[in-house]
Amino acid sequence: MHLRILGFNSPYPPPGGAGPGYLLEAGSSKILLECGSGVVSRLKTYCDFRRGELDAVVISHLHPDHFADLLVLRYAHHRNMLETGVAPLPVFAPAEPALERAVLEYKSLQVTTIEAGTSTNIEGFEFTFFATDHAIPCQAMRISHAGRTLFYTADTAYDQSLVEAARGADLLMAEASFLTRDKGANVPKHMTAAECGQMASAAGVRRLLLTHFWPEYDTADLLREAQEHFDGEIIVAANLLPVKV
Ligand SMILES: [Zn+2]
Repeated sequence: MHLRILGFNSPYPPPGGAGPGYLLEAGSSKILLECGSGVVSRLKTYCDFRRGELDAVVISHLHPDHFADLLVLRYAHHRNMLETGVAPLPVFAPAEPALERAVLEYKSLQVTTIEAGTSTNIEGFEFTFFATDHAIPCQAMRISHAGRTLFYTADTAYDQSLVEAARGADLLMAEASFLTRDKGANVPKHMTAAECGQMASAAGVRRLLLTHFWPEYDTADLLREAQEHFDGEIIVAANLLPVKV
């Protein structure tokens, strides 16, 4: 399986950029992980959702930087339904917060709740969900396909239970919201690039992918911090970068 990084900045995209969005593919299956601002405009190059190529969307948590463009994608898919009679688009998301979840109840989306400790097969990918330490309910996910494993932290503070959940993954996609110098007591529930490196080492993963960072950061600084704690290969998210899992 492989990922296409459609967007990676948070909480807002820079000019020409996009919020979190990762197209996961294997064979003819295409699943979108997260759907931040600007993701839909990039998605169509790799997955013609107007022709029904998108199989499902998985949202880790209902902070707007992770699902804002789903509110646009639902219109595109509604048009598909009217023109071709296809079924509503499967969306997997947490049940809470109720206000945000209610926004997803729309005629072109078929929403299924994801819960920590459960597993489900989505288009041939085996997903297992784990609760993260974040401001609202959020699910990290271990995704397996054909003997390869991707672990995605979603949004979280450094958490030992996620280290165990990620153990031995081929690729750890970790949120690096901060550089250590900027992480004070008032900005909890996210990781630094250094903590991403620590998690990768502690979990014994093969490779680390840093994502979900402040658009004003110099990515060289993020890479340097992570390298101080992890000896394996480190990839820094970049626009439209393909990443093999
Ligand atoms: Zn969040």
